[in-house]
Amino acid sequence: MTSSVVIVHIYPSLLGLYGDRGNALVLLDRAHARGIPAELLEIEPGETIPEQADIYLIGGGEDLAQVTATNLLRSAERSAAIRAEGAVVLAVCAGLQMLGTEFRAAGQQVRGLGLVDAVTTVGPDRAVGELVTEPEHLPIPTLTGFENHAGRTALGPGVMPLGRVIVGIGNGDVEPDSSAGERVDGFIHDRIVATYLHGPVLARNPALADLLLRWATGGELATLEDRTAEALRNERLAATLSSRQVRRASAASGRRTELG
Ligand code: GLN
Repeated sequence: MTSSVVIVHIYPSLLGLYGDRGNALVLLDRAHARGIPAELLEIEPGETIPEQADIYLIGGGEDLAQVTATNLLRSAERSAAIRAEGAVVLAVCAGLQMLGTEFRAAGQQVRGLGLVDAVTTVGPDRAVGELVTEPEHLPIPTLTGFENHAGRTALGPGVMPLGRVIVGIGNGDVEPDSSAGERVDGFIHDRIVATYLHGPVLARNPALADLLLRWATGGELATLEDRTAEALRNERLAATLSSRQVRRASAASGRRTELG
């Protein structure tokens, strides 16, 4: 009997913006659908974050909530669980910014948790709308979601982005002054996946949910047919991308898409 997959949502009352709590529900659901026992622990400020959990979720947050959560988590002891080697972490938007070295929010310059060399500044305008990311290092198809953030994140040398932005802003321009507009979204570091994608991202991209579950369980997973998730994903991609972009995205990832 597989032992239970323990999913921890860190500070959902502060970091669960735009439905990001749904990421936990998708993981639970996709584990349960395969007969894998899974449980969700929602850890609020003041409670200890369990070490040895299988997946940690850090969602988006409003500026002040993000600063509060970061200040609470900055002590190595409080954030030991996500600092542990090989911890599986999904961080979204504010969560992404917090894992870096520095960010600006609520008029303050804030020291991040420093897990990854990434600095977030405030952009010229708020990035709001659909975001489509082509993952470059993970074996998963094009990612769809939406973004709503002021921050722009510069990755340090050697930090791997999650992928290339096809539509939207993501981390912002790779070269701030370039007119080429080359943009990337998020980063990957060991088994930490960080992105600007809300949606919730795992509801729109079940392949990413399954990748996290595979990392957590250490084994292959039975294929699941989830027509609702597929329909949502295809509808959003078709609404966001031109058919040329859809073809280019699927060619780049070497995969066939189900889009009509
Ligand atoms: N406060 C951050 C920003 O605006 C993050 C927002 C979010 O999590 N959606 O950049």
